[in-house]
Amino acid sequence: MPVKKGLLVVLSGPSGAGKGTVVKKILEIDKSIKLSISATTREKRENEVEGENYYFYKEKDFLDLAKDGDFFEYAKYCNNFYGTPKKPIEKWLNEGFDVLLEIEVKGAKQIKEKCKDCVCIFLLPPSLEELYNRLKSRGTESPESIKVRIKRAKEELGESDFYDYLVINDDVSACASDVLAIIRSQKLKFSKMKNYFLEGGFF
Ligand code: 5GP
Repeated sequence: MPVKKGLLVVLSGPSGAGKGTVVKKILEIDKSIKLSISATTREKRENEVEGENYYFYKEKDFLDLAKDGDFFEYAKYCNNFYGTPKKPIEKWLNEGFDVLLEIEVKGAKQIKEKCKDCVCIFLLPPSLEELYNRLKSRGTESPESIKVRIKRAKEELGESDFYDYLVINDDVSACASDVLAIIRSQKLKFSKMKNYFLEGGFF
């Protein structure tokens, strides 16, 4: 039986929505999902590891890679560039793995335009107040950076109407299982399953 192409899953949401924690939970539950490691020009945070959290680049090197077409998408977010390396994603999808991209809205829009059968999920915390509290208690952002990220969060909401699903992250486990349910149902869509008519010998 030929290997079925994997599903591209885009997960976005404001900084502080808890995407990282939810992604960690999803990967713990479903070991067959691959997580794309992005490239960025942002400064490495103290707890971050090169190649695990991000690939960190100087702006010039990042833009050279972008010019060479090495990114599936890239965008500027709060004064830094972020991009999805193309090669690992194509390889995993062709091998039949589902691939998760944790990216912001402008990048997600580029993916949606290029890849019609991806699924785009937007994650929100229960309230704006909760978003502010989470950003503050994370301790990684300066007060100025928190302000910029809150402003960007509001802008992102206004640009988010092309997403397929909205999930509220009130509880990490419930949120992860909602995302996994979306992935499962997306893979069972009639249009995706049609090949089984042939493979199962029905025609
Ligand atoms: P942070 O600086 O907090 O790690 O990430 C800032 C934002 O950049 C988050 O919304 C995150 O989802 C997004 N991001 C991370 N990687 C990528 C990427 O490869 N492409 C795009 N467009 N956004 C990304």
